[in-house]
Amino acid sequence: MIQERIKNLRDKLNRYSYNYYVLDNPLISDFEYDKLYKELEELERQNPLFITPDSPTQRVGGISTGFREVKHKYRLYSLDNTYNYDELRKWYEKITKEFGDNVELVCELKIDGLAIALAYKNGIFESGATRGNGIIGEEITQNLRTIKAIPLKLFEDADVEVRGEIYMPKTSFEKLNEENLKNGEKPFANPRNAAAGSLRQLDSSITAKRDLSMFTYTPIIERAKKSPKTHWDGIQYVKELGFKINPNIRLVKDIEGAIDFCKYWDTERFNLDYATDGVVIKVNNLAYQNELGYTSRAPKWATAFKFPPEEISTTLKDIEIGLGKTGAVTPVAVLEPVNLAGSVVSRASLHNFDEIKRLDVRIGDRVLIKKAAEIIPKVIKVCDSDEHEGLPIYTPPTVCPACGEQLREIEGEVNLYCTNPNCPDVLRAKLEYWVSKEAMDIDSVGPSVIEKLYNLGLVKSPIDFYKLTIEDFLKLDLVKEKSATNMYNAIQNSKKKPLSKFITAISIRNVGKETAELLTGELPTLEDFKEATIEKLSSIDGIGDKIAKNIYEFFHNEHNLKTIEEFKQIGFSFDNASAPKTDELAGKTFVLTGTLQSMTRDEASDIIKSKGGKTSSSVSKKTTFVIAGENAGSKLDKAQDLGVTILNEDEFLFMVGKK
Ligand SMILES: [Zn+2]
Repeated sequence: MIQERIKNLRDKLNRYSYNYYVLDNPLISDFEYDKLYKELEELERQNPLFITPDSPTQRVGGISTGFREVKHKYRLYSLDNTYNYDELRKWYEKITKEFGDNVELVCELKIDGLAIALAYKNGIFESGATRGNGIIGEEITQNLRTIKAIPLKLFEDADVEVRGEIYMPKTSFEKLNEENLKNGEKPFANPRNAAAGSLRQLDSSITAKRDLSMFTYTPIIERAKKSPKTHWDGIQYVKELGFKINPNIRLVKDIEGAIDFCKYWDTERFNLDYATDGVVIKVNNLAYQNELGYTSRAPKWATAFKFPPEEISTTLKDIEIGLGKTGAVTPVAVLEPVNLAGSVVSRASLHNFDEIKRLDVRIGDRVLIKKAAEIIPKVIKVCDSDEHEGLPIYTPPTVCPACGEQLREIEGEVNLYCTNPNCPDVLRAKLEYWVSKEAMDIDSVGPSVIEKLYNLGLVKSPIDFYKLTIEDFLKLDLVKEKSATNMYNAIQNSKKKPLSKFITAISIRNVGKETAELLTGELPTLEDFKEATIEKLSSIDGIGDKIAKNIYEFFHNEHNLKTIEEFKQIGFSFDNASAPKTDELAGKTFVLTGTLQSMTRDEASDIIKSKGGKTSSSVSKKTTFVIAGENAGSKLDKAQDLGVTILNEDEFLFMVGKK
C-alpha cells in the first residue's frame, strides 16, 4: 500500500517535472509540486527500502572528493566546421557523388554549452560523463542527476546512450551574475562558462541550485521497441522516450535547404534564450552515415556551419538622448555603421549615465559592441587607444532635449527624468507602450499610425484612442475603410481587457506586466488599489518597498485618479472575471489539426483559453505547439518544417491535467 503510494507519487512528480523542464509547460504550481514532493520525501524517510534511483528525491546532491575519469563506450567525435557556404556545398557534393542527388539532411542548432554522454539501462539513468577528449571524460553522474531536463526514468524500458549539450539559459545566466556581483564574487564571462562552472562542482547541491538544462541530439539505441532508420526518426524517438530535444530542427532535401536554415538562424538566434554558435548538418539516412564513416577526428556524414562572431569594435560618433514612457532619459550610442552578425548596426544601448561613467565612454572612442538577446546591441567596453585620454569626458544633459524642462534625479533611481506632463516625446512613448503586446496588445495600431495621429493632434494621451471614430482613422494617409474599422474595433475591444493589462499599460514606474499580474492577484479591483497602503503593497510576495511606494504615490495623485475615472466613464470594465482562470499556458499559441478522439476541437480550444493560452488557425514560427489528431494534414507538415513541437492528443490531455 505504502509502496504503491510511493510509486504513484514518484511517477506523478516525474511526469510534472517532464512537463516543466522538457516540454517547458508546467502543469501545476510550485506549491502543489512541493506538497507532493514533501509527502514522498516523508514516506521514503520512513520506508528507505522503497527508495529507487529514479525518485525525484534522488536529484538532490551531495559532496564528492573528485571526478573519476571514464572511458566512453562510444567515442564522441569532433565536427569539421566552416564559416563558408561554398564549403558546405563542396562537402555535400562529395556525398551526392556516392549516393546520387537529393540526399536528405537534418539541420540542428549547435548549442554553445557542454557536451555530455548519458547511459540508460532498462530505462533508468545509470551514468553520465563530460566529453573530455572524446575518448576519456569525467564521470559526473551525481551532478547530472540534479538537472531536471535529464530524465531519471524513460517512458520505455530501453537501453540507450544519448549525447546532449548542457546549457544555462541566458536569462538565468544574467540573474546568476547579478547575484555573484551582489555577493562580491566574480561574474562568469558567458553562459557556457557558467554552465561548466556549475557542472563541475564537487558539491552537487550547488549544481542543483543552478538553472541548467539539456538538449539531446544524438541517440545510440542499443535495445528498444523501435529501431529508427534515419537520424530524424531517431530524434523523434528520443523525444518519445522522455528526452528534451531542441524544437528548432529541420529535415531538408538538399544543401540549399540547409543553407537557408543557416541564414535564417544567423539573425534569428539572438531571440533565443540560449547561446548557439552555429548549425550542425547531418546526413539523415543512417545506412549512408555508416557507409561514409569517420576521419581520424570527425564524422564524414556531418559538418558544422559556424555563425560569424557576435562582438565587433567601431567608433562612437555621438551620444543621443531617448525618452521613455515614464520620462526616463536614456543615452543611445550613435555608431559608425558596422556589420555585426549579419546586420548593419548604427545604434547601440548605453543603459544609463552611470554606465557611461563606469565605462568612461567618450565621444570619438573606439568601442566594443555586442549583440545580445535584445534586438538592439549594447556597448560593452571602450577599446584601448592612444586617443582616449585626449577626448573630452562625457557630461550628461541637464535639460530635456524634447521640451527643455530641467531634468530631475529621483531618489533610488539611476535614471534622470523629464517630469513635464506635456513633454511630446514622453507622451508619444506612453502611447506606443499603451498599444504594445505587453500592455493593451492592440497590434493593428503601430508606431507609424501613432505618429500620424499625434501629429494631427487627434491623440495626446491614451484616453484619446477611445474617442477616435472610424472617420478619424480615414484622415490618415493610405488608411482604407477596412483597416480603419479594424483599428477602431481593436481599440474599443481593449476596454474589456483584464485589470492587470490596464495596470501595466498605465505606465507606473517599475511596474511591468509581471508585477501588474502579481498585484492584481492580491488586489482584484481598482478600489483595492486606491485603498492599499504602502505596508499592504510591500507585503505582497515579489513587491519591494520601492515599487510599493511608486504604486501608492501613483494612486494618490489627483491627476492620475482623474484619468482613471475618465477610463471608467468611457466603459472600461477593469474586470478580472473575463480573464483566464489560470495562466498556466500564458504566452503559448496552439494550432489544432486533425480529429481528436475525446473532444471536439472547439472544446480543446476552450480548455486552452481557460488556461490563458491562445489558439490560431495557421502554423507559423510563433506557434508553440501543434496538437495533431487523426488525419492531420498540411498543418502538420508545416509544423515539422518549422520545427514546431507537435503533441499528440494524450500529451495534450496530460498537459492540461485531463489525464
Ligand atoms: Zn521633456
